[in-house]
Amino acid sequence: MARKPLIAGNWKMNNTIGEAVVLAQEISNEFYNDWSDHVDCVVCPPFVDLKPVKTVFEFDRTKIGLGAQNVYWEPSGAFTGETSVPMLKEIGCSWCIVGHSERRILFGETNEDVNLKVKALLEGGIAPIVCVGESLAVRDAGNYLEFVTAQVRAALAGIDEGAAKECVIAYEPIWAIGTGRTATPEQAEEVCAAIRATLNDMFGADNADPIRILYGGSMNEGNAALLLAEADIDGGLIGGASLNAKSFMAIVKDAMR
Ligand code: PEP
Repeated sequence: MARKPLIAGNWKMNNTIGEAVVLAQEISNEFYNDWSDHVDCVVCPPFVDLKPVKTVFEFDRTKIGLGAQNVYWEPSGAFTGETSVPMLKEIGCSWCIVGHSERRILFGETNEDVNLKVKALLEGGIAPIVCVGESLAVRDAGNYLEFVTAQVRAALAGIDEGAAKECVIAYEPIWAIGTGRTATPEQAEEVCAAIRATLNDMFGADNADPIRILYGGSMNEGNAALLLAEADIDGGLIGGASLNAKSFMAIVKDAMR
């Protein structure tokens, strides 16, 4: 099955509201709605920027999607500092990143947390973009395929076979994130193929086939085309390069080729 490519921009903790509105407008200006027949384009700003960015997108009637960078699994209650699925839904998020390595490393997010977040998002009708990826130490030790596929199994444990197709997996080797050191297309494809085999094993080929697998880690307009040409890479999760509208759109265009 040919999967529609997905290019998602992870703005991380960048852009005040004013800056976010400018960047959202620049991105919207660069995007033609008929491209959405061929590629899903999503931006994931910080929480406080979600509503302003959504307002820009609504005004422009653009078909660029909106995603959050994190979520909490409970719908409401005494969870100071957290944001729930219904809150994201109300703002207009259709996507949400979970398990980003920065959240795992800096904020102690565990595989179990990721699994709870995935389940809450699926129940609320928001597509999870589940990040997995190994550290340099794990890569050098040689057991990175086992490590990454175990992360996938843990994140999607207990997910209904029918709901699995809403999930997106982003393979992001930690050694490639924000470092300028990209995985080669062969390195990325090896792991994405192993993820695809794991998904087939978990959900059956028919249910797993629509699940998109992205590569993330210093992807930019110079290296995207070769990475996106790989059989099991269905798009990209873009950090640094998503903060520039022209660079981000160049990658979106590469995904349509
Ligand atoms: C990311 O944060 O998901 C990411 C891939 O970052 P960068 O593109 O900057 O490596």
